[in-house]
Amino acid sequence: MNDTTRPVHDEGHFDHDIAIVGAGPVGLALAGWLARRSATQRLSIALIDARTPEAAASDPRSLALSHGSRVMLQPLGFPADATPIRRIHVSQRGHFGRTLIEHDEHELPELGYVVRYGSLVSALASGVRATNVDWLTETSALPPLQDDEGVTLPLKSSAGERTIRVRVLVNAEGGLYQQTSGESAVSNERHARDYGQTAIVGTVSVSEPQANVAWERFTREGPIALLPCGGARHADYSLVWCGSPDEAARRMQLDDSAFLAELGDAFGTRMGRFTRIASRAAFPLGLTALHALVDRRTVAIGNAAQTLHPVAGQGLNLGLRDARALSDALSADGARPLALLRFAQCRALDRRLTIGATDTLARIFTVDFAPLAAMRGLALTALEFLPPLKTALARQMMFGQRR
Ligand SMILES: Cc1cc2nc3c(=O)[nH]c(=O)nc-3n(C[C@H](O)[C@H](O)[C@H](O)COP(=O)(O)OP(=O)(O)OC[C@H]3O[C@@H](n4cnc5c(N)ncnc54)[C@H](O)[C@@H]3O)c2cc1C
Repeated sequence: MNDTTRPVHDEGHFDHDIAIVGAGPVGLALAGWLARRSATQRLSIALIDARTPEAAASDPRSLALSHGSRVMLQPLGFPADATPIRRIHVSQRGHFGRTLIEHDEHELPELGYVVRYGSLVSALASGVRATNVDWLTETSALPPLQDDEGVTLPLKSSAGERTIRVRVLVNAEGGLYQQTSGESAVSNERHARDYGQTAIVGTVSVSEPQANVAWERFTREGPIALLPCGGARHADYSLVWCGSPDEAARRMQLDDSAFLAELGDAFGTRMGRFTRIASRAAFPLGLTALHALVDRRTVAIGNAAQTLHPVAGQGLNLGLRDARALSDALSADGARPLALLRFAQCRALDRRLTIGATDTLARIFTVDFAPLAAMRGLALTALEFLPPLKTALARQMMFGQRR
């Protein structure tokens, strides 16, 4: 439908104060926080998603959430089947140098948690269902029209097309990994980088598991992350294996035993042998980041604002901090452009640091150049001997910068 054929809308009337497009974990968290706080503000909220909640709940991807994210999410709902991470082991294959990050060094019960995307969405969805958020499922948002007073948003569902008028539109529709609409609700300049890498994900089992230990192993081709996700004897790990697109395509075709043998060669024997692989899938990896989060009365958060390399497991953690800051700003200043500008100002530092650190890690740890490998080894060893540096790095990864 082009702009001239859209139904005319009374621009003085608002169906909702805020429309959130995207009921992924970031959109759901924003809806939950806003609904809890807007009882006094009387903000009316619509949450719109092209999928059914059941389809989102069946997504098997595992995600590492920091302790800081858990603290923020706890009042909304947190999955009961989350697996705690108490130690993170970082090393590089074939070179010296390693660092350990332990939960008790940071006086925390856990460093973080591994959650299934589907479990997280289910936990957050039950919290939102108990509020008066108007949740439109199986409804796609089409590109909006905005003016100085508000935003007119066309919606498409099996019942046909209609428009709603809102004061503020939040784009939480995800990005590179799960773009269900061709166009983004916020048109904006993006910073983009193709890492020339593809991640193979899946669930693996090992013969000598170490409970509650997460592994990050840098190899010639790219990082391998293994996140503990429970199972019998704590032997199951969620795998993210980053490599060149050609090698990833070839490995996707291998039978299970050949795949497990190559994984063992690349990772080493710190957890014995790899004995099983299930649910293999491949994702191309890149960085996209909007230069500006706000365009008049529309604002982007989560993967719609930035999509990161999974090397440091920061994508969703950063997106949740976006949602929390936006909820704070809208609750304090109402559904007005001033709230959006305050939100954008307060997110600048955290975004810069987290996107910059992830991008640097993704690039320097994937170059196979001997002097650089030695420097990486030194850097990992230095972290062990410089506790303040290690603590600062761990705190940025766990809590980000919030003010
Ligand atoms: C291999 C891999 C490993 C990862 N590991 C980690 C990790 O360990 N830790 C971490 O923090 N992050 C990790 N991430 C990143 C994480 O998956 C994302 O940051 C997170 O899913 C973003 O959540 P979101 O709610 O912003 O977007 P999404 O989860 O993409 O949700 C977007 C929602 O919007 C809906 N939607 C889209 N367009 C429309 C439209 N036009 N109309 C209506 N609805 C629409 C979709 O149906 C979807 O439900 C990883 C990513 C990958 C690919």
